Amino acid sequence: MATATTPLSVGTERVPFVDLVAQYESIAADLDQAALGVLRRADAILGKEVELFEGEFADYCDAPHAVAVDSGTSALELALRAFGVGPGDEVITVANSFIATALAVSYTGARPVLVDADPSTSTIDVSQVERAITDRTRAIMPVHLYGHPADMDPLLEIARRHSLVVIEDACQAHGARYKGRRVGTLGDAAAFSFYPAKNLGACGDGGIVVTTHKRAVQMLRMLRNYGQAAKYHHLLKGFNRRLDTMQAAILRVKLRHLDRWNQARREHAALYSRLLQTTGLALPVEARYAESVYHLYPVRTKDRDRLRAWLGDQGIDTGIHYPVPIHLQLAYRDLGHGPGSFPVAEAQALETVSLPMYPELVEMSIRQVADAVATFVGVQSAPAQLAQRAA
Ligand SMILES: *Cc1c(COP(=O)(O)O)cnc(C)c1O
Repeated sequence: MATATTPLSVGTERVPFVDLVAQYESIAADLDQAALGVLRRADAILGKEVELFEGEFADYCDAPHAVAVDSGTSALELALRAFGVGPGDEVITVANSFIATALAVSYTGARPVLVDADPSTSTIDVSQVERAITDRTRAIMPVHLYGHPADMDPLLEIARRHSLVVIEDACQAHGARYKGRRVGTLGDAAAFSFYPAKNLGACGDGGIVVTTHKRAVQMLRMLRNYGQAAKYHHLLKGFNRRLDTMQAAILRVKLRHLDRWNQARREHAALYSRLLQTTGLALPVEARYAESVYHLYPVRTKDRDRLRAWLGDQGIDTGIHYPVPIHLQLAYRDLGHGPGSFPVAEAQALETVSLPMYPELVEMSIRQVADAVATFVGVQSAPAQLAQRAA
């Protein structure tokens, strides 16, 4: 690793990993008014705001349809169900994601079939997908991890050749673009999460399915609402997975700020990348086809755990996304994988640490984080050099 060139920081402010209070305070009056409006109208379930939000979010994605549900996990599961995925089927997805990606497949009765990640973008390694296809494969579920789109065109081409459905896990990528197009409209359907810390977050759980297929819309509406086509007339055994009107009202206010927030994330990422250039850490890269929305800013180093502890000592909070890849989770021991099954995902689990990233992050904090990283690299490399000289 290169020695630090950045001077020691004098800043001692705590830097949180995300700051949802700062986001609330920046638009408090509008959020308060939206929430009060729902309380006063008391249209808590499938109220007017839900339909309005569905239209606005679909427009945001340049998509024709959206159906709002109670979480990103539900959005993934119901999207799979709406396209007929069920028991006996296989769905190809990636080993390094949040576990909900695989759980959504399991809930339908289908089996997640994992492939490894591309080491540069951390998204699904498209070159491994075709090998994973069997007679039972029904769908491919790429994940736009960390806000960076998966390489969709070659994936869609494989899907077309094998008549497979493509469901995008866009839970971390609201507003990201692939070759200029918004994610969410590239596959047959896409799932977004509104978990509070996502790029667009509710005040609780929420999610939405975006789709280009009109025929899927009716099915999704029934699936989220007890399988009901008209009140008390149930065509199938659906679920209670509706987005609350309260969440829709809050999301409508926040959606107006999403592009600005994503732009701030991109600027923060650019500054991190400039300041950390000389540290020897592996930094996030944007593929030529991609415009990432930097849900996270993960860096890689073999010294991850000590770097993380050092940053913690400096009052800088970090995260690991994710410490255990899906195939090594106890919950998925039935898939029969072990250490070595997906080396890229496993290396990332051991080596990545996500630095503070949220729109309201200020430049001084980014400099403080970068200084702390550089100092760590300098401090750590000196004894290593001594040890080398002694050897
Ligand atoms: C957050 C997330 C989910 C699940 O969304 P919830 O709203 O928490 O259910 C699924 N996939 C990925 C990649 C996520 O980041």
